[in-house]
Amino acid sequence: MTELAERDDALENAILAARVTFRGEELPLRSAQARLALLTGYADRDSLGELHADASATFNEARLELLRAAEELEAELSGEPDPVARSEEEKAISLRELEAALVGAAEQTQTSFAALRERWFDRLLGPDRAEHPTSHHSSFLRRLTPLDSTYTKDRSVEICLDTLERLGFRMADDPNIRLDLDDRPQKSPRACVIASDPPQVVHLITRAQGGLHDYQAFLHEAGHALHYAGCNPALAYTFRRLARDHALTEIYSYILEAITREPAWHAEYFGLSDEQAAENAEGTVFLEALLYHRYVAKLRFELGFWSRFAEDGGTPDGYAELLSAATGMRYRADGFRHGRRLLLGRLPARLDPLDAAPLAPRARDRRGLVAEPRDRRAPARPLLRGHAALERGGGGSARLHAARHRAARPRAERRLVTPGQSSPRELSSCVAASTRSTAVRPASHSASSRIPVSRSTCGS
Ligand SMILES: [Zn+2]
Repeated sequence: MTELAERDDALENAILAARVTFRGEELPLRSAQARLALLTGYADRDSLGELHADASATFNEARLELLRAAEELEAELSGEPDPVARSEEEKAISLRELEAALVGAAEQTQTSFAALRERWFDRLLGPDRAEHPTSHHSSFLRRLTPLDSTYTKDRSVEICLDTLERLGFRMADDPNIRLDLDDRPQKSPRACVIASDPPQVVHLITRAQGGLHDYQAFLHEAGHALHYAGCNPALAYTFRRLARDHALTEIYSYILEAITREPAWHAEYFGLSDEQAAENAEGTVFLEALLYHRYVAKLRFELGFWSRFAEDGGTPDGYAELLSAATGMRYRADGFRHGRRLLLGRLPARLDPLDAAPLAPRARDRRGLVAEPRDRRAPARPLLRGHAALERGGGGSARLHAARHRAARPRAERRLVTPGQSSPRELSSCVAASTRSTAVRPASHSASSRIPVSRSTCGS
């Protein structure tokens, strides 16, 4: 496992060290990626995009080798050789049923999406665009660059904070949320939240580049930050930090990001006419639809990739075809980032797995952090501040049983029952140091008590 983590670090460092030369300038891959969103020349984006994709693809074999090693280890540790079945068990849903529902919705919206897409491709990429532009234009599209004189870089934080304040969230005064808004060359252009030790230590990181996307990204990440910074400090680390999948925390992000799809928000903050506000808001609907269709294609690809994995060891078959058909853009077959399980993966330490930053969790840390669901319990639910059932104050609610460790009960009860008894730091380092876990589950007297808890083995 240590060896795997070292190989992972070595690969990430090699990717960080890679450079492409564009117009005589040497750019790290992440800077090239950030530049793609900003370049106004259509042909320039195509050529820088190709350079970036060529350089990135040179790491594919190393990514794939690492993926195979990690998969082998996970199969061995979990005792479940089928990666799709393993993921279904963890998430407690049928991925095939999910796929069918998502594909059905994508088909039903295909005609209206195609019309919306053509209109916005024309508007954003200009009349000389290719009928099927390359995927290198994605981040430029995402930024809605032609609108960036309206959605300026320097107003994004102020406007987003004001928007939140008018909803009752004074985020700038929240001591738990640490904002990192600096512009640094190696910083990923993707915004993210790192909930190191929620609720007290929650980092919100963005790198504004100008454009409406900054506003959307900030509000989206604010949803994650407020979720984590608002959870009950009396809960054990596992309750505060973990969930079965991204859906729990994304709910909050999607609610806040959706504000930018409201024409009234555009009119209110940017002095636009109702007509202009409605048009700009439609741009965000286009982006949302584009992302939806892209993700459905990615899920279909990943299910195929992992279903074949045992036989073929991982191939990009179908990637370019599925993504291109879904989005109307041309994708390269080697653009699939081997080694990144976007949809079937476990929880990364960083949220928003699309970002360009290294994924922090290592195989050696994972097993102790997520309880192993072997039944079909309901998914984890949001933790509400002051929820009586979660505070374990009332009689009868703290009936815990250890899965295979007799001493678990008193220790687990101490951690769950008494607010403030253990410092979050202590809990966090205990959980991180744990390499094997004993699942401790509260009795299922209510839905909210069915959240899995992993108990640290520190001190036992
Ligand atoms: Zn998110």
